[in-house]
Amino acid sequence: MKIIDKMNASTQEGRTFFSFEYFPPRTEGGVENLFDRMDRMAAFGPLFCDITWGAGGSTAELTLEIATRMQNMVCVETMMHLTCTNMPVEKLNNALKEVKKAGIQNILALRGDPPEGQDTFTAIDGGFACALDLIKHIRKEYGDYFGIGIAGYPEAHPDSIVDDEEKMKENYWRDIHYLKQKVDAGGDFIISQLFYDTGLFLQFVEDCRSVDITVPIIPGIMPIMTYGGFKRMTSFCKTKVPQKITDTLESIKDNDEAIKKYGIKLGTEMCRLLLDSGVPGLHMYTLNLQQSAVSILEDMELVDRNNLPRHLPWRPPTNVQRS
Ligand code: FAD
Repeated sequence: MKIIDKMNASTQEGRTFFSFEYFPPRTEGGVENLFDRMDRMAAFGPLFCDITWGAGGSTAELTLEIATRMQNMVCVETMMHLTCTNMPVEKLNNALKEVKKAGIQNILALRGDPPEGQDTFTAIDGGFACALDLIKHIRKEYGDYFGIGIAGYPEAHPDSIVDDEEKMKENYWRDIHYLKQKVDAGGDFIISQLFYDTGLFLQFVEDCRSVDITVPIIPGIMPIMTYGGFKRMTSFCKTKVPQKITDTLESIKDNDEAIKKYGIKLGTEMCRLLLDSGVPGLHMYTLNLQQSAVSILEDMELVDRNNLPRHLPWRPPTNVQRS
């Protein structure tokens, strides 16, 4: 089933939904461990689960294999990520054919980052230059068969982030207008890049709505699990980190348990603010781990300890102070 239909049904019924994102592990043992974890986490009732496409197409076969097993053996609605990096159209077509054969109906259509050693993205011969081209291709070849998710960047895409304030504003709006093109070409919903300033996400939603982007915009939540991991991700994605968060993390950076606990507390605070502001669901970047993502959902009373699917009753948006 298409995720957008499930999202709309959930919202109409007044239920808040959530989803879990995983990436392909490096070893066979890691893959089996991941499936054990997915089975346990599926019992919490995610609306869907998704599996990433390794940078530069490095995990193409494994991603396809995991996606197939997720859909047919873990029995969760599955979305497979697909990027254009190093992928001529024939390879993209093969991947789409395989995915369809596996009964998967949802694709997160992405451009991908430049291949290793390259600073800027250039299309390979016979390949696509951006996610927009991939979305158009999927719609042209498959009509409405696939539900298509797309990526959105509350702080603009990292390539668009510059120091000059005027230029930054221009780039931010250029990205939003480009996002509108992706929606108009067939993107059904938007999943956001990670962020730690909830106010920036809410502003982004408001700005998207102002240019008539009407599809669901789902916040991507990456719980802080380790100090090093957080530093690496926020630096790679050029994420703005509110001073209060930086100060707290600096004061506990040598205490792994305290960092994890703080990550859950912060994630819960962020999710509460987002749901209070009318966000329909939460997308959890699990980093293939259960504890932090599920603890946040438990704190939000979206899942219970007996593993029974449970959802928060719909609460109308309240006026929330932006941070
Ligand atoms: P695009 O939507 O094509 O946009 C990239 C940038 O180029 C934007 O700044 C956009 O404004 C600009 N741009 C491109 N074309 C045009 C145009 N025609 N006109 C104007 N501006 C244009 N990477 C992976 O390798 N594997 C994954 O599984 C993966 N999953 C992700 C999941 C999510 C939710 C997110 C947010 C990112 C993910 N990424 C993944 C990272 C992503 O591939 C990179 O951020 C990549 O650099 C951009 O991909 P995109 O689909 O957003 O690109």
